[in-house]
Amino acid sequence: MKYVGAHVSASGGVFNAPINAVKIGAKAFALFTKNQRQWEGKSLTKEDIERFKVELEKAEILPKHVLAHDSYLINLGHPEADARQKSLNAFIDEVKRCEALGLDKLNFHPGSHLKQISEEACLELISASMNEVLRKTSGVTLVVENTAGQGSNLGYKMEHLSYLMENAIDKERVGVCIDTCHLFTSGYDFRTEETYGQTMHKFDTIVGFKYLKGMHLNDSKPDLGSHVDRHDSLGKGKLGLAPFKLIMNDARMDDIPLILETIDESIWAEEIALLYSLID
Ligand SMILES: [Zn+2]
Ligand SMILES: [Zn+2]
Repeated sequence: MKYVGAHVSASGGVFNAPINAVKIGAKAFALFTKNQRQWEGKSLTKEDIERFKVELEKAEILPKHVLAHDSYLINLGHPEADARQKSLNAFIDEVKRCEALGLDKLNFHPGSHLKQISEEACLELISASMNEVLRKTSGVTLVVENTAGQGSNLGYKMEHLSYLMENAIDKERVGVCIDTCHLFTSGYDFRTEETYGQTMHKFDTIVGFKYLKGMHLNDSKPDLGSHVDRHDSLGKGKLGLAPFKLIMNDARMDDIPLILETIDESIWAEEIALLYSLID
């Protein structure tokens, strides 16, 4: 079964996220558990946590179909030690917020070398950061997202993701989120049945579907291999609807959160219905 939703707003309190998910007919959702543009988040109170759990249950959405997303400021591969430590502390705090909310997945972008160190050295730092987080926390899977490769962001090659999985000290608590826009603009085509088959085979061989813990379903404004990260509404960008139909009929994407991060949230309800209508 497919669990489709969107990255909904949690403004006014985390408990608003499941409420907003229900409004658009979502069976899954993503959220920021704190303001994504600030380092410090207000601590979650007992009441916040209770209310979140009550609303989640009312929404009939399981915790495993919720994909929390970390702050945009965090860079686990930061070349400067102090800055990396700051990111690491903030990330551990985010993992603990997920734990407190009863959520089992935190989605993050691998990190950036900022043109100060090599890609390899940066990947080593990200891996070391992830392992430190795994040692200091429990119960939450670290879900690394593929990227468009804009600027000095790593994660635009499947090999980057596989390196992070292979070097994790606890392979049960690491995973991958594929963003369709990023996959396409990083240079992997999957617009036809043939190219879809090839790219997914590549993913399975290099990373492995056992690590796939979620997806971001976005169409793409920029073209294949452009390394530019700009989402579009489904069917309105360079991807078109065909790859989404293939995803919706692919059993390998069953039972994981499939999350829209498309640009017009006023049509999320229609996009969710559209995705379900693509199932044969
Ligand atoms: Zn994404
Ligand atoms: Zn993006």
